[in-house]
Amino acid sequence: MQIDLSELTAANDTRKECTVPIDAAVFSFQKEEYPVEEGFVVLRMHHTSDRQVEIEADVRIVLGMVCSRCAAPLSEPFDLTVSCLLDLNKKAGEKPKDTEEENEEDDAFVNCVMNDRFLDVDTLAFETLSENMPFAVYCKEDCKGLCPVCGKNLNEGDCGCSATADEPKDPRMARIADLFKNVKEV
Ligand SMILES: [Zn+2]
Ligand SMILES: [Zn+2]
Repeated sequence: MQIDLSELTAANDTRKECTVPIDAAVFSFQKEEYPVEEGFVVLRMHHTSDRQVEIEADVRIVLGMVCSRCAAPLSEPFDLTVSCLLDLNKKAGEKPKDTEEENEEDDAFVNCVMNDRFLDVDTLAFETLSENMPFAVYCKEDCKGLCPVCGKNLNEGDCGCSATADEPKDPRMARIADLFKNVKEV
């Protein structure tokens, strides 16, 4: 959802707090699409002067994901806080004049401003989420994963395949094995 900042920036030293829903139904990240099951942002905004807006946002998103080990569907909650300074005088995509003084994080949020006055809250939330996406999610801490031979979900019981002897039985070891697998893929 987009909110209009023109009222806020009409005077100096003005503050506004509001809760804004995330409209997008899907979060796209690294070629994956995750349904947004729940999403809203609590915004605390402070217009200091000259169209400089300090923003502090609590981002609450629940994504539909799958367990990285057993592929069971799960709802992963994210509670993230982000603060940034929006310069409404700056155009999206515009290169900062003095890179040493610019905060790179703030630059990422330039794309959240539309037509110099609208804050795109979905973009703000998704930028924040992109930087906090976990490497992997698990349905539970000690998920046993799937049998590499028969594909049975080992959380539901042992399948009796002898070849699983090659696989680490300890879930903590399984997680380390996952890490190595992913390192190899990269
Ligand atoms: Zn699992
Ligand atoms: Zn098996």
